[in-house]
Amino acid sequence: DIAPYVPGRSTTDDGRKVAKLSSNENPLGTSPAARAAFASAADSLERYPDASGAIVREAIAARFDLDPARIIYGNGSDEILHLAAGAFAGPGDEVIFVRYGFAVYEIATRRVGATPVIAPDRDYATDVDAILACVTDRTRIVYVANPNNPTGTFAPAAEIARLHAALPGNVLLVLDQAYAEYLADRDDDGGMELAKTASNVLVTRTFSKIHGLAAERIGWGYAHADIVQALHRIRLPFNITIGGQRAAVAAVEDRAFVEHTRAHNAEWRAWFAAEIARLGNAGLRAIPSEANFVLVVFEGALTAEVAYKGLMDAGYIVRWLPGQGLAQGLRITIGTEEETRGVAAALRDLVERG
Ligand code: PLP
Repeated sequence: DIAPYVPGRSTTDDGRKVAKLSSNENPLGTSPAARAAFASAADSLERYPDASGAIVREAIAARFDLDPARIIYGNGSDEILHLAAGAFAGPGDEVIFVRYGFAVYEIATRRVGATPVIAPDRDYATDVDAILACVTDRTRIVYVANPNNPTGTFAPAAEIARLHAALPGNVLLVLDQAYAEYLADRDDDGGMELAKTASNVLVTRTFSKIHGLAAERIGWGYAHADIVQALHRIRLPFNITIGGQRAAVAAVEDRAFVEHTRAHNAEWRAWFAAEIARLGNAGLRAIPSEANFVLVVFEGALTAEVAYKGLMDAGYIVRWLPGQGLAQGLRITIGTEEETRGVAAALRDLVERG
């Protein structure tokens, strides 16, 4: 029997250590400066937070050379993905996303009464031509996560530009970049440059991943001012907390912590992918990832379901996604060195045990 994960717990009932590698969180924690900034908010708990998110917008704008007036913020980037559907789609409209995409796109689409249209993938990667083949005169939004979750695959900026160029101007292209900071090649972030100039592109980012602030629920987005105004009209007035705002400002300014996390992730992601490659004869395959997790597909005798339960028994919680049509894969977050070595050893054990 699989017991549900209890937030905050790090041991099983019988006292074994549990590694949570199922939500793509930062295994190195949070920047100390962000923790201190969060703690400072305890002085102002009786006050409403700044509804305009000014300090967060200013800090992000300074860091990424953006116009602060064109930044939207949300209760996690999840909220912004929902705001996009709420502002731009409704009954009778179609919203396109890829088969193995982020689960929120379908929820956001159905919530506003619009129709999800699922584009096939190309061996788990985003296929621009397949997306374009789904476009009709009812299409209102295309959601693309880049890097994608749960596959970890990345579409270079040139591919995204090709998608954008072929889309009708009245379709909103949402580029969900929750994992952008993990990309190795800083010249190609697969999205933000397009959002600076195009009138129908919304890029979303988050403080939940590399910044280690998942608990505080702070996401942000960048788009043309008209799009941002449409999103502001339907968001809740005080959607980001004081603690979250202060922590986010400190986190975005702590570039050393971000770089340390990025380097750790790159090293252990490569190590883990190489370990999976050694299990290739047993039918295990790591999909090439640019994010902080790896999708392992099981094409041999050991199934993803059996491996999922076996890893759980060994104290490793990973993500199995049969509900998203991905019963053949496990998405495994890159953890600390100890966790990453441990989950790889546990997988090898399961393969050897048959
Ligand atoms: N987009 C993608 C692709 C994600 O994987 C996630 C979280 O897992 C999110 C958005 C939402 O993150 P948050 O709401 O914490 O910003």
